[in-house]
Amino acid sequence: MTVRVPAKVNLQLAVGPAGDDGYHPLVTVFHAVSLNDEVTVRPATKMALAVTGEDAAAVPTDRSNLAWRAASALAKAAGVRGADAAVRIEISKRIPVAAGLAGGSADAAAALVACNELWQAGLSQRELAEIAAALGSDVPFSLMGGTAVGRGRGEQLTPALAAGSYHWALAFGQSGLSTAEVYKTSDRLRAARAASGAQPPAEPSLSTELMTALRSGDPARVGPLLTNDLQPAALSLRPDLRRTLAAGREHGALGAIVSGSGPTCAFLARDAAHARDLAVLLTGAGVCRAAARASGPVPGAMVMRDGRRS
Ligand code: ATP
Repeated sequence: MTVRVPAKVNLQLAVGPAGDDGYHPLVTVFHAVSLNDEVTVRPATKMALAVTGEDAAAVPTDRSNLAWRAASALAKAAGVRGADAAVRIEISKRIPVAAGLAGGSADAAAALVACNELWQAGLSQRELAEIAAALGSDVPFSLMGGTAVGRGRGEQLTPALAAGSYHWALAFGQSGLSTAEVYKTSDRLRAARAASGAQPPAEPSLSTELMTALRSGDPARVGPLLTNDLQPAALSLRPDLRRTLAAGREHGALGAIVSGSGPTCAFLARDAAHARDLAVLLTGAGVCRAAARASGPVPGAMVMRDGRRS
């Protein structure tokens, strides 16, 4: 049973001050793009996990892997026990690791859908979304795909009305960034700003301008409205990303932004040909490890039959 699952970029990422539990309330606009991992599950005599492809060596192959945790959580919820719950999980990665593209969450969502199918467990989308939210804040969106507004920690989703498709160039960093470290840095930068008399950050709120632009389907309107509150922290940890963003803008990107906690930079292009040109130019300019083009929105985790999405 093989499931294909997309990466995400955040078109808006508004981050509020951390609550007593240490979590930051978010308002974000998720957008699923055509950069996919594939997760295959097969019946086995004991749990096992293997990873191939992009950054495979950086991905844990034990029970700490989010896809493994997802399979275990689904088995528990569906009452699949003992030897019946053992699967071999094979992850074929194209989504770079620790890149701000929710690769681990994507694999978890794919494992949920794959095991639900393999075991004929019959859990509904809603039940899967509940298990997903317990695994991680981005996992429910990896199930849902498309374009959606996320609130809370990002797990409370509402589909967004977005017209048309959007073409992107994604510039990958030389190495990953830890999401926790980016949040910590963001808190430190905000505290320093507050100490020098700046306004404290407001409660996060959805950009109505961005939502209107998305309904128009016009990338030229959407591009300037892309925002990411974590960008200053990502740039302070990786100052060279400024050059990456500047290079994309110089080559006509309609919007240039760090994706999530970074270090991937996402560039909104005029059309598919422009996205391809941007990817080539960014790679050639030496401002990233590699670049790829992608388009969105695309559906969330989906079973593949005979090599096609079903
Ligand atoms: P996000 O944008 O959701 O904050 P990210 O895209 O920056 O996350 P991931 O690729 O999800 O980061 O990886 C974060 C960490 O999660 C990795 O450093 C890795 O140790 C761990 N991890 C666990 N399972 C997986 C998986 N299936 N794929 C990738 N990383 C995983």
